[in-house]
Amino acid sequence: MLEFKYQALPWNIEFGAGALGRLPALLDQLGLENALVLTTPEQASMGYRVADLLGDTAVGLFAKARMHVPQSTVDEATEMARNLGAKCTVAVGGGSTTGLGKALALHENLENVVIPTTYAGSEMTNIWGITNDGRKVTGRDMKVVPTLTIYDPELTLTLPVGMSAASGLNAMAQAVANVATDKQNPLVACLALDGIRALAEALPAVVDEPDNIDARARALYGASLAGGALGTGITSLHHKLCHVIGGTFDTPHAETHAILLPHSVAYSASGAEHGTRQVAEALGVSDAAMGLYELGRRLGIPAGLCELGVSESDLDLAAEMTTEGPVNNPVAVNRERVRALLQRAHDGAPPQA
Ligand code: NAD
Repeated sequence: MLEFKYQALPWNIEFGAGALGRLPALLDQLGLENALVLTTPEQASMGYRVADLLGDTAVGLFAKARMHVPQSTVDEATEMARNLGAKCTVAVGGGSTTGLGKALALHENLENVVIPTTYAGSEMTNIWGITNDGRKVTGRDMKVVPTLTIYDPELTLTLPVGMSAASGLNAMAQAVANVATDKQNPLVACLALDGIRALAEALPAVVDEPDNIDARARALYGASLAGGALGTGITSLHHKLCHVIGGTFDTPHAETHAILLPHSVAYSASGAEHGTRQVAEALGVSDAAMGLYELGRRLGIPAGLCELGVSESDLDLAAEMTTEGPVNNPVAVNRERVRALLQRAHDGAPPQA
């Protein structure tokens, strides 16, 4: 018998090549003023471009966003926002920059506008994260859902091929977790399945032709849906594994997801047969886990965690950390089986149930 709950998020999206040009008019319509533009140091020139576009509506640029949103960065940005009388932020960049905008929304009540330039999908979620003394604290709060998201595929043309592939598979993981589950929510699964289809189709084209704007647009669309699935749906063993590996061994976020995904799907398939079959269909393959593994090879992402600097001697600790505490998953999370999963993911071996 069908039974589910669904809490919508207040997404407000402007999508299209050249949409960045509409930023001033859109802020005006929303009555948003005194904008502090946020970027990483690497994307500072993009930040200046946005600040120029905004003219008097921009009060400044904070170009120090960093991976995992360190508390010290939040403090520094907060001080700048207060000194400049900022009333909103405009975050231009990937998940790290979006994360800083979310932290300022959470603690300073600043409206946040996000212009994503990767496939992280954070702009579609109510999840925030801040790292203090090496420990990342995360939570869900409606306050961090962006007031406005502008997707302009032209801004993703500069995302290097390797990062595009890994970031795209990070998005794929968010969507897959919400289909290959025994707790499938039908509304969330609709988003997730179209996200999987779009990403599976677009990512090989992005890797083959990074300047192909149609492929870039389709990948960004898929990432948006996948982020929407994460925002309104669930996480499971896969996200716990990534949190442990990324948090303990400081591996890059997107690549960690990309490598572990086929293995997590294989691990849980017997407890979510229907959903796992749906993932395979959406990917256009006969076996979801193998299909994801082969997609990773096709996109040229590293095959094994060993290539991210995780050594074999780290795996016992990782298995222990993953299995301590409850994990929401279709198949029981067992230390021995997780250790075996990690061995294959470490070696870059194909996934196995
Ligand atoms: P990122 O934001 O750290 O970006 C990586 C690098 O790529 C940065 O130097 C950035 O400036 C650069 N970059 C971004 N877009 C570019 C472009 N178009 N051209 C050239 N360079 C570009 O990486 P990410 O993978 O987007 O985000 C990872 C972070 O996002 C992690 O901290 C993760 O925890 C978080 N995240 C959060 C959520 C959520 O719902 N809260 C969801 C997904 C990811």
